[in-house]
Amino acid sequence: MAIDRSEIESEDCSLCEDCAKHPALKRFIAAYGVRDTVCGICFRDPDEAPYLSAAPEQFVALSNLVKALIRYEYDEERYNRHFGGDEISGLLSDPNPIIHHEETATHRRSALDSEPYLLRLVSDVYPPYESGVALHAGHSDGLQNTLLTALKSGQSELFREARKRIAQENYYVVEPAVRKVFDAIGRRIDNTVAEGTTFYRARIGTDGRYVTFEALSLNPRVRSRPYQGDLLGAPPPPLARGGRLNRAGVSFLYLASDAETAAAEVRPHPGHQLSVGSFRAVREVRLANFNVDIDAFAGSDEQLDLFSFIVATDNAMSRPIVPEAAGHYSITQLVADVARQRGFDGVVFKSSVGAGQNVCLFDSATFEYVPGSAAVKEVAALRYKFSPVEFLLTPQADDRLIKG
Ligand SMILES: [Zn+2]
Repeated sequence: MAIDRSEIESEDCSLCEDCAKHPALKRFIAAYGVRDTVCGICFRDPDEAPYLSAAPEQFVALSNLVKALIRYEYDEERYNRHFGGDEISGLLSDPNPIIHHEETATHRRSALDSEPYLLRLVSDVYPPYESGVALHAGHSDGLQNTLLTALKSGQSELFREARKRIAQENYYVVEPAVRKVFDAIGRRIDNTVAEGTTFYRARIGTDGRYVTFEALSLNPRVRSRPYQGDLLGAPPPPLARGGRLNRAGVSFLYLASDAETAAAEVRPHPGHQLSVGSFRAVREVRLANFNVDIDAFAGSDEQLDLFSFIVATDNAMSRPIVPEAAGHYSITQLVADVARQRGFDGVVFKSSVGAGQNVCLFDSATFEYVPGSAAVKEVAALRYKFSPVEFLLTPQADDRLIKG
């Protein structure tokens, strides 16, 4: 039996582990859960069957986390009613990745019932920059500020500024600004990898093909031999071309968390043969993880600005470098330099072509080839994924051409 919504104030409600949908919310409730508070979404009676809800005294932190997730997922346009958006509470009672909204056999949920609690969760829309999460860009001097964009798009003022400067100034002039961001982020991107952990590396091509004539068989066997050991490892410094994180002449070891991602990252074509093998950490390794969860940054806009920088860096690292930019010292190379100065052994970032993660080691000796692990694979097919982009067919007078 559920509690009658009219019997209970939204101030006395919380969010339960079942109605939380986003993994970050589930983690929050697991960490700060109590078993005696009514869920403001499903209104189950905890006296009948206890369940975990976020502790009421954690309300501000919970509210900031929910708002941070809204900021991560949605452009302000979607929920700013002055610009044709939905009500914020409406956003969460429609299909969304943050809070469950649909009625099930075990959970009675309705937009009408959950509205008071959802409104309360997002009510503080202009908290102080250092201590809360704002959902609106607001006004300056009577003028509307540019609307906020979804954090997942990776638009970061801090990142944009550093990237702009690196295109015009010597890198060591820009370095202190990036160091300051790193120091503000602190240990929140630390990722320790135990000695013996195995990652993967691929290289296009093989170390030759062998033909074998066998007795009783008319057809000879043809087999490829994979690159192994040093041939599969990082190129020596004089041969190292500039990469996403390393400058030309600097040798970093790029690995991936699984064999498929490692293979996809070398961007082979159908019909290509690849050598894939594994590498093992020879000691404990400290990595800077740019593919990190939002949890530790959800407390304020100040923290979310750091998180945006991390997302922007992750996006930039995962993008292939275009040939015309290969000669430039890039912002991602600068971030890698600062990570190295701060004592990290390498960097973790997402893969844009595989399901796993990429790992880049500043010293290739921190990982060794696992003897006998190499194999040869052939690319059977590639699958491209497209996303819609705004476009026009016939430019009008207002449409200014900015790039040919
Ligand atoms: Zn619930």
